[in-house]
Amino acid sequence: MAGRIVALPWITTLTPVRRQYLKIKNAYPDALVLFRLGDFYETFDDDAHLAARELEITLTSRTMGKNVRVPMAGVPAHALESYLARLIKKGHKVAICEQLTDPAKSRGLVERDVVRVVTPGTVLESALLEQDTNNYLAAVVEDGEQVGLAYVDISTGEFAASRMDRKRLPVELERIAPAEVVIPAADTLPGWLTDAGYAPPSEAAEAGEPGAGPGYHVSRLNPATFDLDLATQALLAHYEIRTLESFGCEDVPLVTRAAGAIVDYLAQNYKGSTPRLAALAVYSLESFMALDAQTRRNLELFQAGRWENRQLSLFATLDLTRTPMGGRLLRRWLGQPLLDPAPLQQRLDAVEYFVNDAFGRAAARDTLSDVADLERILGRVKTETATPRDLVALKAGIDAAAGLEQILAGEEADRVAWLRQGLAPGPVSEVASLIERAISPEPSGSVGEGNIIREGFSDDLDRLKNASRDARSFIAGLEQRERDRTGIRNLKVGYNQVFGYYLEVSKSSLGQVPDDYIRRQTLANGERYIVPELKEYESLVLNAREQMQELEKSLFKQVCAQIGSYADAIGRLAGAVAGLDVFSALAEVAVQNRYVRPAINLGNSIAIKNGRHPVVERHLGAGSFVPNNVHLSNDDALIVVLTGPNMAGKSTYIRQAAIIVLMAQIGSFVPADSAEIGLVDRIFTRVGLQDDLTTGQSTFMVEMVETAAILNQATSRSLVVLDEIGRGTSTYDGLSIARSVIEHLHNDPRLGCKSLFATHYHELTELAQTLPGVRNFSVAVTEEEGRVVFLHRITPGGADRSYGVHVAQLAGLPRAVVHRAWEVLEELEGPGNRRKEAGRGRRAEPAMQMALFSPEQPLTDAVLSLDVANLTPLEAINKLYELQERARGNGQS
Ligand code: ATP
Repeated sequence: MAGRIVALPWITTLTPVRRQYLKIKNAYPDALVLFRLGDFYETFDDDAHLAARELEITLTSRTMGKNVRVPMAGVPAHALESYLARLIKKGHKVAICEQLTDPAKSRGLVERDVVRVVTPGTVLESALLEQDTNNYLAAVVEDGEQVGLAYVDISTGEFAASRMDRKRLPVELERIAPAEVVIPAADTLPGWLTDAGYAPPSEAAEAGEPGAGPGYHVSRLNPATFDLDLATQALLAHYEIRTLESFGCEDVPLVTRAAGAIVDYLAQNYKGSTPRLAALAVYSLESFMALDAQTRRNLELFQAGRWENRQLSLFATLDLTRTPMGGRLLRRWLGQPLLDPAPLQQRLDAVEYFVNDAFGRAAARDTLSDVADLERILGRVKTETATPRDLVALKAGIDAAAGLEQILAGEEADRVAWLRQGLAPGPVSEVASLIERAISPEPSGSVGEGNIIREGFSDDLDRLKNASRDARSFIAGLEQRERDRTGIRNLKVGYNQVFGYYLEVSKSSLGQVPDDYIRRQTLANGERYIVPELKEYESLVLNAREQMQELEKSLFKQVCAQIGSYADAIGRLAGAVAGLDVFSALAEVAVQNRYVRPAINLGNSIAIKNGRHPVVERHLGAGSFVPNNVHLSNDDALIVVLTGPNMAGKSTYIRQAAIIVLMAQIGSFVPADSAEIGLVDRIFTRVGLQDDLTTGQSTFMVEMVETAAILNQATSRSLVVLDEIGRGTSTYDGLSIARSVIEHLHNDPRLGCKSLFATHYHELTELAQTLPGVRNFSVAVTEEEGRVVFLHRITPGGADRSYGVHVAQLAGLPRAVVHRAWEVLEELEGPGNRRKEAGRGRRAEPAMQMALFSPEQPLTDAVLSLDVANLTPLEAINKLYELQERARGNGQS
């Protein structure tokens, strides 16, 4: 995008506007400059080519000096937001250059300058933001093995920072899922960034892979931005404070550097009018459970399945929140489960309170339905982009909070007194009364139309309004008065932009026009006149309108500024409303689906009675899901090896155990009859046979890399869920790997962690004989009329076979294929076969495998699968012969 700005030899012949543009563009070489020219934002040169392509707008050109014609493409000013959204979504950085002086009033060249640089991480426009998702800008700075990470959501003011081991950065970045990351520019890219698949734009373009990358935009900044002194200064200046002590980052240079760089970057992009951020929250990863990308994906926390369906995610199942703030908070909680019982008990208390109080819950949810996005409204107030309707919504929200506080009035609510305190309006009630006094209850959408500021708030404004109203009513009455005076029955008073107010008389009545009428315009069928009196009132109306607009704008600005001074209090109130929204929503989910409060502790066992998978259950419908128990304990039942046929419900079971633990650790009730959860420090999941094409690794390689990560990172307090490990390679390799992984999880003194292992290798059930912590379970199936029926019930003991071919048959594989599969299976399992030997201790004999269906079945199937109508006589004879041979071979002759 670095414009082809050539130093032109005939530069003196450029128009002043062109010179102005080039000067500005030179200051923003890496941004697309939207240059305001009257009612349009124009782009020039290379920017114009880019804009025309990306926005599908017409590329034109414009003469901007002698011999100078430059490419140009523009968008109408009123449609800026939607075009901006498209550019930002495509990863461009946009500098918005405004006219700083009123073209109507200024002589000569209108002053122009960039007022804001918009990047994916610094957008505020609602069109660019998703309601229930935060839009984060992150900064990362490294020092040896440590990194500083800070992130901010400019639309809500949330600002947090932490220092961590470099190894933990990728997972933390995945959790935050920023729209943009800023890093110090250096000759080489940091390893974590290239590992995440990032290639700088030019290289990526050459590789023809615009979509490749970590999913965020990367901006490389002047390294000085991350300098400790400058960063400290930036933070102190932003918050107007003298020391960083209150944030707790005084002695953590990496945190200060990352956070300071963010503030500095915002200051550059917002040209000095950065919205005030909420107090910097310095956090420690030690307080939260890290959830890596695989675990988030495998447990389908936010998106489910290959098609990344959001509706089938755990989040969608739990998200009955009523406000966007509540939705975002729940999303954050789900991404950051807690490790400490105390705050979890507090959350569970609040959920329980609403579970028990059906009336309060309904009332709270009713009230919340009408609460607007207070966090983002506050963001807009701080950036002076709030609309009058935003203020009305803010007031309604403040009033609603008072209503919510009332709902928590009863004695029972004493247990959640902290929640009630958060809702107490305190200083925020002054904001509500200010809005009440200042803003009309139903203001128009934009400022300056005269119906925003309430009557009685400003004497000056009221006076102007009255004068204008009087003048208008004079003009309105003039028509009748002049008709009476002149006797012209069809005389009309009208208005147009060119002549202002006029009196119109049709041709037939021209004879009656009095002498004091001054003619202004001749029409085909009449004449237009003015009278001096009319013009006097006209200028009264027009002047008053202009003054009113100015005054209303400035009053509105003052009101916003006053509200802005309560930002911290409003932010706290919004946070409390969001919290209450989440608690009452989790309670609603719990009641609707019969969830129970988990008993959480720091012990080392997990006991779930009649647990269910919350998402599968929801989609199967009430009563169809078969509940199952889970018992895991570091003392005796360390590892569950779960075998059973395909489609029996193995994956569902092991995921459901992990999801129940996770739900407990965000403070939610859980789908079970009872649950006792010894808190885990991390949940690891790995699913075999899963492609990760985006990173270009083969299925099996990915599987092994991820398994390695688990074995290296898990501790004795972790919960490990492994599904079909070792399936991506040959049977013997896979079996050997699976077996040694279990042995390692069981025996390594650093590990010994609770694990659930679903597998097709029934050979693994033998491990229970040698490893005391291994328990075998299988999923029960039964047979009805030759078909396998899944009971979805987990029973002690291992399964002895896979029933893979049965499932293939159920899935509708052509009969001939199924039949052939039976043959191959039998060959493989026949006497003296290698596979059989490898599967030492298998209890199933080949005949047993067959016995599930009647012995004749395969042969009958083969006959039935013949397409008789299309067989030639010769083929028919051959087939008959083949069938006979087969029958002989099966001992069925
Ligand atoms: P595979 O080995 O083929 O991956 P699996 O044993 O892991 O199979 P799941 O994918 O867990 O099987 O379950 C298959 C289907 O069975 C699920 O999609 C669900 O519809 C149903 N199911 C699983 N568990 C239950 C249950 N407890 N109650 C009712 N239906 C269930």
